Amino acid sequence: MKKLLIFCIVATVCIAAFSVWHAVGQPLQDSDRYAYLHESQSTRLDGIDIESAFYDGDHYVYGIHYPSTGNAAINRDIKGLVYRYLDSFVQEAEKYYDGPEPPGGFSANWKYELNIDYDIARPAPDIVSILFSIVEYTGGAHPNHKILAKTYNLDTGQAYSLDDVFIKDSGYLDQVSEMAYAQLKGNRDLREYLDDEWLKEGTAPKPEHYRHFILEEDNIAFYFDYYQVGPYVVGQPCVRVPYTALGGLLQVDTPGYPQSTEVPLTPLPAPSPEPDPGDGPMVALTFDDGPHDEYTPQILDVLKAHDAVATFFVVGNRAQYYPELIHRMAAEGNEIGIHTWDHKDLTKLGAEEIRKEVQDTADLVYGITGIWPQSMRPPYATINDAVKQNVGLPIVMWSVDPQDWATQDTDAIIDHVLENTREGHIILMHDMYAHSAAALEDIVTGLQEKGYRFVTVSQLLNLSEDNLQTVSGTVYRKQPSE
Ligand code: ZN
Repeated sequence: MKKLLIFCIVATVCIAAFSVWHAVGQPLQDSDRYAYLHESQSTRLDGIDIESAFYDGDHYVYGIHYPSTGNAAINRDIKGLVYRYLDSFVQEAEKYYDGPEPPGGFSANWKYELNIDYDIARPAPDIVSILFSIVEYTGGAHPNHKILAKTYNLDTGQAYSLDDVFIKDSGYLDQVSEMAYAQLKGNRDLREYLDDEWLKEGTAPKPEHYRHFILEEDNIAFYFDYYQVGPYVVGQPCVRVPYTALGGLLQVDTPGYPQSTEVPLTPLPAPSPEPDPGDGPMVALTFDDGPHDEYTPQILDVLKAHDAVATFFVVGNRAQYYPELIHRMAAEGNEIGIHTWDHKDLTKLGAEEIRKEVQDTADLVYGITGIWPQSMRPPYATINDAVKQNVGLPIVMWSVDPQDWATQDTDAIIDHVLENTREGHIILMHDMYAHSAAALEDIVTGLQEKGYRFVTVSQLLNLSEDNLQTVSGTVYRKQPSE
């Protein structure tokens, strides 16, 4: 709910200043390290899982996320709509690059991008509202933003339309339309951009104007498309109407469902002593894109069994589903780095958006572990000056890439890593695939037999021979030839 709220406020006040940035990059005091023992556990996500798919090709990239519920009919519906977007995106991207004109106006490595993310509200245990945010970069002046809202009954699988939420023929549209017009008209931040005729037309009492609705704990929220109620600068504004103001018009029962509960988390054990650089050559394993409910525990098991540690560059929207895995990573001495909130190409974002991608994820990790992340890795490995200036953390790349996301060949992954890893190297893997998890045991034992010790990336960078102190916004990589 917190994220939905933020989204709504940002959408409404689309030029809001971003002011809470001081924390990133500030090293934590020791006394802070274990201060945070209570975390609020999300109840809105109970019984719901996240599915993600990533692709990094020559012509286009995508990162898509969608929820998976205990109801097969809902899952089919959601997957159908997400993959329809993906299919048409891929077709469009291929057509563009296969056309007679080479991509114009962009640097040679500019790629089409699709990002689908979502947030969830849960007004009752059996009702879930999902707000999808779909962003496509296809070369226009602005990215193509779409929103899509769905509300389902988790027991019956029924998808709710406005007529299922409100009492049909009660005149609810007229009332909602009046409230929406008044709220937007009275919004100080939007006022100067709004044209009254445009606003009236966009908020007129037609069902299609109010189809993006989200049932929250206490309100129904209506989201509006770009250009629906005003020019581009108005964004995708949101209007919230409290259920109490709609008393006689509603037919769904929304008793108000607490969106989180306080859960005591076990304090982390005291950190093990920093590795001694004199004890032999060090390498660092890294895992991107997770956590994953099945493969991340397998990887943690292997690491623990062999007294090894790794660094997990986590994606925030996935991490929120698996707080116990994040806690376990930290408790077993692994490092948790940031791989953004939803796996967007940061070089296509503005400064505030870049900071928010890192900050939201770091907040989440800190809330679970009490440890502020000390490293980040950008999705699709894209970096520009704006990224360096705004991530607020050292940017850690890699030396050895077995392409584990693109192959299903476990032996090929193992061979590549064992043949190419040298002292001080950082190995790139992903905790999202069965074959990556399966390759780990042989990789860890193989490298240990060669005399290597596994340390986290921050340990590796801070303890390397030149005693390099990591600096925010600096890119660290070591190529295989070095
Ligand atoms: Zn990634």
